Amino acid sequence: MPDAKLVPNVRPVGPIDDATLIAEAQRLVGEFALIKPSLTAGAVAAALVTDAGNLYTGINLDLACGIGFCAEHSAVAEMLKQRETVIRRIVAVDEDRIVAPCGRCRELLVQVDKRNMDCVVLLPDGAVTLRELLPNAWLEHLLKSA
Ligand SMILES: [Zn+2]
Repeated sequence: MPDAKLVPNVRPVGPIDDATLIAEAQRLVGEFALIKPSLTAGAVAAALVTDAGNLYTGINLDLACGIGFCAEHSAVAEMLKQRETVIRRIVAVDEDRIVAPCGRCRELLVQVDKRNMDCVVLLPDGAVTLRELLPNAWLEHLLKSA
């Protein structure tokens, strides 16, 4: 039996258009309850494509007391599992539309790799670079010394 390399949630995609990236996120959206109805996962999903051309996805986790994380976080964690850090394009969606990344996610993307300042973020009304969304990163000094 040939060796099988198990690499969950990673798919090399090569060039990917925005419609495909959005569709990859949309197919994961679907909020479901966890231990009680108010504690959920899956209301938001994210998809990103890396500089290496791999696609990673994630869903959010919405728990009590601010525990949990955004869909972008879990997509980034999937990417990091493969030791990739540079994002080319990223999108997050809910049931109805594309949603902009929150401020914490913007910082997260930059702190993972400063080159992500140039990644393209899809928004409801177009696309911008992360640099446009985060002109003064919280840890700007890290970007200069890295
Ligand atoms: Zn966020």
